[in-house]
Amino acid sequence: MRAVVYDQPASFEVRDIEDRPLAAGEIRVENLIVGVCGTDQHLHVGEFGPRYPLTPGHEIVGRVVETGPGVSGVEPGEHVAIDNTIYCRHCEACKRGDVNFCENGVALGVQAPGGFATHAIAAADRAYPIGDLDLDAAALIEPTACVVRGLDNIDLRPGSDVLITGAGPTAQIMSQLIVRGGAARVTMAAPTQFKLDVARANGVDETVLLDRNDFRASHARFRELAPRGFDVVIEATGAVSVLQDILPLVRSGGTLVVYGMAAEDATVAISPYEIFRREITIKGSFAQAYGFARAIDFLKHGKVRADGLITHRFALSSYAQALAALRSPDCLKAVVEPQR
Ligand SMILES: [Zn+2]
Ligand SMILES: [Zn+2]
Repeated sequence: MRAVVYDQPASFEVRDIEDRPLAAGEIRVENLIVGVCGTDQHLHVGEFGPRYPLTPGHEIVGRVVETGPGVSGVEPGEHVAIDNTIYCRHCEACKRGDVNFCENGVALGVQAPGGFATHAIAAADRAYPIGDLDLDAAALIEPTACVVRGLDNIDLRPGSDVLITGAGPTAQIMSQLIVRGGAARVTMAAPTQFKLDVARANGVDETVLLDRNDFRASHARFRELAPRGFDVVIEATGAVSVLQDILPLVRSGGTLVVYGMAAEDATVAISPYEIFRREITIKGSFAQAYGFARAIDFLKHGKVRADGLITHRFALSSYAQALAALRSPDCLKAVVEPQR
């Protein structure tokens, strides 16, 4: 098979590597569509705990071509989405059911070989058959599973007035599900007009174009929309400059969700008095756990729509261009199609 292989940070090649035989409980998948995501950019520079040699790619959709001994429930020929997370099942966190905090967790595409290859190997119990789901929609299963985690954590009260800052793929999916999930109104704010237009076409009520360098410049517009602030503010840019000035936009008694990924060493200054006096709740949401089945249902029944989300497609040999596309303002979601 051919695969993107990193031997060290920032240095990869697309090369032939030997297929290994399947162990008990494993399946081999011919990768059909694999999402490129911000995590892959972090991995490119050696962040996020990669193990080498590394084949990245954690948003894997493919066709089963071989099943190992003892596999049941998945048949050759079936299209599947692969849940890339592997839990140890015996650490303190796993025993409490908090698998997202597994102390020995491994992820395909981070510490184990992932999907930017013609083929991938996964445990059969991490494969979710997707029937005839459109492949573009299927490419959004893993990001949608992450949004499901966010929704579990947010626990949205019906009738809430919601602000989402950021318009990337997960923010788009989040907005679609919150629009259809009982919010009174969803406002999206981001610095890129075409991404706001995509969100608007998929049901967002209001959009606010942000000045990339001056988040506060938009506060007057937010005040017009919600004079007392928003019930729930979901920060999905990961930008410290946004998070730093976002608390005044949360209504008293409201919730701020830190959903975007900031740099590991970034810090913001917030007023403890404001959190105390205005009873503000701050929540986090990381990756996903047991989100795949619900993500597939959301996509199957059109509650998450891929319309306008996938803007860039690449062959395996163009992985460098796929990574570069992530930094381009005209890119919303990029995918690699390894059989091209
Ligand atoms: Zn991802
Ligand atoms: Zn564990």
